[in-house]
Amino acid sequence: MMTAAPLDLLGRPMHDLRISVTDRCNFRCVYCMPKEVFGRDHAFLPRAEILDFEEIERIVRASVALGVRKVRLTGGEPLIRRNLDALVGMLAAVDGVEDLTLTTNASLLAPRASALAAAGLHRVTISLDALDDATFQRMNDVGFPVARVLEGIAAAEAAGLGPVKVNTVIQRGMNEHAVLALAEHFRGTETTVRFIEYMDVGHSNGWRLDDVVPAAEIVAAVDARWPLEPVDAEYRGEVARRYRYRDGGGEIGVISSVTQPFCGDCTRARLSADGQLFTCLFATSGHDVRAVVRSGATDVDLAEALRAIWTDRSDRYSELRTLETVKQPKVEMSFIGG
Ligand code: SAM
Ligand code: SF4
Ligand code: SF4
Repeated sequence: MMTAAPLDLLGRPMHDLRISVTDRCNFRCVYCMPKEVFGRDHAFLPRAEILDFEEIERIVRASVALGVRKVRLTGGEPLIRRNLDALVGMLAAVDGVEDLTLTTNASLLAPRASALAAAGLHRVTISLDALDDATFQRMNDVGFPVARVLEGIAAAEAAGLGPVKVNTVIQRGMNEHAVLALAEHFRGTETTVRFIEYMDVGHSNGWRLDDVVPAAEIVAAVDARWPLEPVDAEYRGEVARRYRYRDGGGEIGVISSVTQPFCGDCTRARLSADGQLFTCLFATSGHDVRAVVRSGATDVDLAEALRAIWTDRSDRYSELRTLETVKQPKVEMSFIGG
């Protein structure tokens, strides 16, 4: 099955597919799944609504026919999904998948890193928001220690899943001090820390613009301590802006989705655990690809359904949000319809 790679209404190809394999997580990060909203009685997706591995593989094959080359498994916490190695193996075998990665909180990674690598996973991105337990535990909100995440990073590197990228969400008043601590810890190693601006995703984290630490401020803080210079992007759609230490100590990245949006180059589609395809992180609704898969559609029908969704795409939420923000600096989540 080979069809020409479609462009969306703003001329962007579909290049990356991020697949959420579960909506569950063993952390309750305050900026993502705050306990007040994701409490004990929270209703997660029932099993029957979640795509099985064959269904995910079919959607990946159809996406590859439309131009997708990078596939990232995420969640929720993807390592909670039982037998994830099997899915990794199935997707690694799809012709055309050039980059197969996993984003994880690393809580369950250390004992499984070598099996994931053996199944065909290429790299991992590991989230870590501070190097001190007091701050990290305040942010993950389940008392999980930093040392076990560092073990996960070491295990991933030992298994050949490196160089590891570390994702750190910086929230004003919560973990600004983690910037220099993490930069120092990973300087001189292969590991790149990427500092992410706190985003207004979802509707539950009580986001305020005041809580965002602009990427420029993060870069300035690191640069004042260890001088930096910018590095050119490796490819279209690279979300992180990269900087290298002038003394050869490696690189950091910043993901400035709020202050310097990059919608113009956004080549990402997202598939939720229940098979809804979202053409933007901030979309209010998805497209029901599971219904297509479960309706007995052929692979060609499936690819055509994905093409129709992608060619109708015009999302650029972050750019529009910035315009709104200029007019109304303390815009509330409910106002922008997160
Ligand atoms: N549980 C896995 C993890 O934490 O790595 C994968 C899923 S998590 C939703 C993926 C990434 O989104 C993490 O690096 C997390 O820090 C980031 N994230 C979640 N909520 C965010 C927010 N409000 N602003 C910016 N990044 C956020
Ligand atoms: Fe879980 Fe990842 Fe969200 Fe934290 S950021 S609550 S680890 S899904
Ligand atoms: Fe892509 Fe939407 Fe984020 Fe813009 S706001 S970069 S379109 S996901």
